[in-house]
Amino acid sequence: MGSRFKANARTISRTIEDINNYFKYLSGIGNKGFDCSPRSLELIQEWGKKRNKTLEEIRSHIGRCTRCGLSGKGTPLAFGKGHPKARLMFVGDAPAGSPSERDNPPEDPAAKLLTKIIQSLGLTPESVYICHIVKCPTPDGRPPLPEEIGACFPILKQQIQAINPDIICALGPAAAGALLNTKAPVSHLRGKFHDFLGIRVMPTYHPTHLLTNPEKKRDVWEDMKKIMRGLDTA
Ligand code: SF4
Repeated sequence: MGSRFKANARTISRTIEDINNYFKYLSGIGNKGFDCSPRSLELIQEWGKKRNKTLEEIRSHIGRCTRCGLSGKGTPLAFGKGHPKARLMFVGDAPAGSPSERDNPPEDPAAKLLTKIIQSLGLTPESVYICHIVKCPTPDGRPPLPEEIGACFPILKQQIQAINPDIICALGPAAAGALLNTKAPVSHLRGKFHDFLGIRVMPTYHPTHLLTNPEKKRDVWEDMKKIMRGLDTA
């Protein structure tokens, strides 16, 4: 009897604490008092549900990131750009440019080619979302190291959860490998959809690879057509 009473007391105490926290939350978002307005009832419905952070919140939380050796000693990182609710997201390996150029990275030939690919789909760079597995440029454009990918991946995961796209196009082996947790080459992965957090992922060759292997453009175009068909049926 005594132990059941203590358990009930603990439950009541936790519930009171939860209610207290909730009222603090309501106060924090500007609510001056409890009412039965539709917005208050909506907020109560949302209570306890896990909310994904917005892109702005993720970016602000990262701050001047020093989580890995690619950190640029406080210079801005290349977070990502495009539509915050894009249906199609492109994920590359690392942004172009040296750390000192991060504010204004030069448009490299691979980025120009990606823009052309996006335009040939009838889309614009502003209608999709483009980002990278790591947010800081790598020395001499080398592929990101596993520890750098590991440090930066939580940021990408939060971005994906915030955007919640219908399809992610993984550009190159670093992006495909990180999203699909595989070391398989892109040649084995491309051409079909895979899964990341319930979102379809189409791996394909990185535009940089196309610059030196133009014969692969046909494969990439086939992958893009599958993406567009996927978007049509989503
Ligand atoms: S690459 Fe990612 S984890 Fe590393 S410093 Fe830049 S933002 Fe931080």
